[in-house]
Amino acid sequence: MAEHWVLACHGLATLLALVSFLCGQWPIFQGTPIERLHYFLTFGAYEYFLRFIGTVFGSKGTNFILSIEHFCCDRPNPTLQVLYLAIIGGTYYFIVTSSFTYIPGYYLSEIHRYTSFLAVAVGVLLFLLTSFSDPGTVNVDNVSEYLSAYPYDNIIYAEKECSTCKIPKPARSKHCSICDRCVARFDHHCGWMNNCIGERNTRYFLAFLLWHFLLCVYGTIALGLVLAGRLKELRVIYILTVYYGIENSFRSLAPHVVQWLLGSYNTQILLMVFLAIVSLLLAGFIGYHANLCLMNTTTNETFKWQEYINWQRKLSEARASAAALKASISGMSSEAKRPASKCKAFFQRSPLEDVEVVGKRNMYDKGYFHNLCEIIFPLSTRRSFLQKKSK
Ligand SMILES: [Zn+2]
Ligand SMILES: [Zn+2]
Repeated sequence: MAEHWVLACHGLATLLALVSFLCGQWPIFQGTPIERLHYFLTFGAYEYFLRFIGTVFGSKGTNFILSIEHFCCDRPNPTLQVLYLAIIGGTYYFIVTSSFTYIPGYYLSEIHRYTSFLAVAVGVLLFLLTSFSDPGTVNVDNVSEYLSAYPYDNIIYAEKECSTCKIPKPARSKHCSICDRCVARFDHHCGWMNNCIGERNTRYFLAFLLWHFLLCVYGTIALGLVLAGRLKELRVIYILTVYYGIENSFRSLAPHVVQWLLGSYNTQILLMVFLAIVSLLLAGFIGYHANLCLMNTTTNETFKWQEYINWQRKLSEARASAAALKASISGMSSEAKRPASKCKAFFQRSPLEDVEVVGKRNMYDKGYFHNLCEIIFPLSTRRSFLQKKSK
């Protein structure tokens, strides 16, 4: 019975840590322990660690850790790429060693030995494709084509030159300080891919996310069917009801079946929990990116729009309070003659409440179908773009 609790606590702790680490900054977790845990996992723990190193080893120790941090976070490096390969390879290895002896089984045919390998291989191929493809590097040769492909909206993008590359900065592009290059339709720099996600490889990145989501769901279901097959083949239900005299109902049998599975197949159960959690996280991530693609915007632009809206709000508030001040000065004399009733003043709206914020006006959004086409067939791969180049 203790095993149940250990496994349940392990699953919950893993889920909490993963959700806090990956999604803790989402607005729905604002002010919750998940947000605090996210801060601790992303900054707090590291700060404590740096302080500890500083106290024990002095400034030499701190400088050594900071140089490692610089290498890992500010320079291109394959640490997370190796970690991805270790995770996918390790998970597949554990599945092969723990469950392939039961394939073919009662519910799974032999073909799953090969399809599973094929599915993992396609996943790794998509990973390599995203990692090593050109995200849409802007250079002297193609800058004019990018400038005409993406006009400035004069809201979040205005005519500008990249101070590092010394070339005009097309709208929607950004200079990635890690890769040290300007990338067209920049989304984000992905540490896992050790590459930027931009105009030309967002399609591969989305395919990678979608494929890995399906891969995790496939793994979870296949392992579930392996366990269900073992239950059937070993006639566990029959033995429990006939030999142990347990009532033949779901409520009475479930705890015994779970206990038997945990005792005999704990590796498969742990793998299933892991794959189910990863598939849930991937589903959230795909939802976020699919929404961006359908709206023809990027992660980078989401931040830019947020900044713009915040700035607009501050500007409107400043205007409203200036107008209120002006009104109160000019109204002073009339108020002295006829004081407004307290009740009326209570229900009167404050001028600050009338602040109107001009929302997002995304000129690159041309409808779902067009937006999706732009992801699948990037502008720079189209004939019209290349023709402009040859002129
Ligand atoms: Zn640049
Ligand atoms: Zn980059």
